[in-house]
Amino acid sequence: MNIANALPEISTLYRLPFTKNDNPNGWVEITTDCNLKCPGCYRGCDRDDNIPVHEPIEKVKENILEMKRLRNCQIISLSGGEPFLHPELGNIIRFIRDNGMYPFVHTNGVLLTHDSISGLKKEGLAGLIIRVDSLSRHRSTSEEKLNSLRKHYGEMVYAVGGIHLTFLCVVNHDNLNEMGDVINWSVENSKLVDFVTFIPIRQVLFDKNEQLDCSKWVYAEDLCKQVQTVLPDIRYAAYLGSRLEDARIKWLQSSYIVMNKKILGYTGPKFVESFQMFHHLFTGKYAYKFGKGRSYLNFLQIVLLAIFLRDFRVIAGNLIKEIIRNPVNLFRRSTVQLLCYIIPPGFVNGIRDECDGCPDAMLYEGRLVPSCGLEEFKRHGKPLEKQIVD
Ligand code: SF4
Repeated sequence: MNIANALPEISTLYRLPFTKNDNPNGWVEITTDCNLKCPGCYRGCDRDDNIPVHEPIEKVKENILEMKRLRNCQIISLSGGEPFLHPELGNIIRFIRDNGMYPFVHTNGVLLTHDSISGLKKEGLAGLIIRVDSLSRHRSTSEEKLNSLRKHYGEMVYAVGGIHLTFLCVVNHDNLNEMGDVINWSVENSKLVDFVTFIPIRQVLFDKNEQLDCSKWVYAEDLCKQVQTVLPDIRYAAYLGSRLEDARIKWLQSSYIVMNKKILGYTGPKFVESFQMFHHLFTGKYAYKFGKGRSYLNFLQIVLLAIFLRDFRVIAGNLIKEIIRNPVNLFRRSTVQLLCYIIPPGFVNGIRDECDGCPDAMLYEGRLVPSCGLEEFKRHGKPLEKQIVD
């Protein structure tokens, strides 16, 4: 892989085994109310015609059970709007846990406090996915400056303990070249962060006559090139393809092991494959996250993995160097950190080209639709046809 062609070849990656009915994630939106109103919100919460409504708890519970039946999911992602505004959030989380799944909450972070997080942890909260990026703040600040906000949230979540933490960052041309700041920060703070996701912004056509403006859109290639400037040796491990194009990558993941603010090595595709296969064999489900709470590996686990997986020999070698440098490192756990790009649908020959095995599908009028396309289903009955490619 070189900078000129930073996208990895599909044949070198593991295709995540997710399908419509066997998928680690079930997506449930519990409110259309929001307290941040990010410009270009794909649910239209920033629009004057948005009607803020909390879903009644009985309807939410029905949706959760239907998701469990249809998706065989490991986690339920509660989204919105801003889920922390829903007065029954604690009860919903308890309901998910009582039904054998892990509750994750998407949030803009505004209402996070130590008390709100620890209260939800008691109900069974397993993960938080916090959107922090300069696009949601009208570009009034930089990604580098926002790292102090990420740290603030990360430390709050860490103090409660045992909660899987993802930072989600929406990207366009304005902040693309700042993605390196987010990655460097997350590696330096691997004690706090498990997962970093970049999502290129796209436009939902709320009105049929709206003009599409793709002048600031970025694509998987742009993200790969940008990330390579700070992680020159990056290796990708897994992907999801597109439904319509044979070689298009829609989800791209790299996973790496971090200790003492250093990447010890990239886990490679075989690790993700073995993990998903064994997880399915022993639990009957595919996994959204690595590990029960946070994603850690200790020395012994890394050495054992090195017996079977070549990529882990490099990781084990670098870990031993760290132990020689400071023997206390023998007793430290390393973080398994994931970096993921999610490329929203484009259109191929006028047909909407979604992610194959979309993990973020939700129920709308009794059927599964990708959450990114919900507004077009709601407003126009189907996704609008546009002659663009992603
Ligand atoms: S919701 Fe859209 S962008 Fe997200 S995984 Fe599904 S199809 Fe892809």
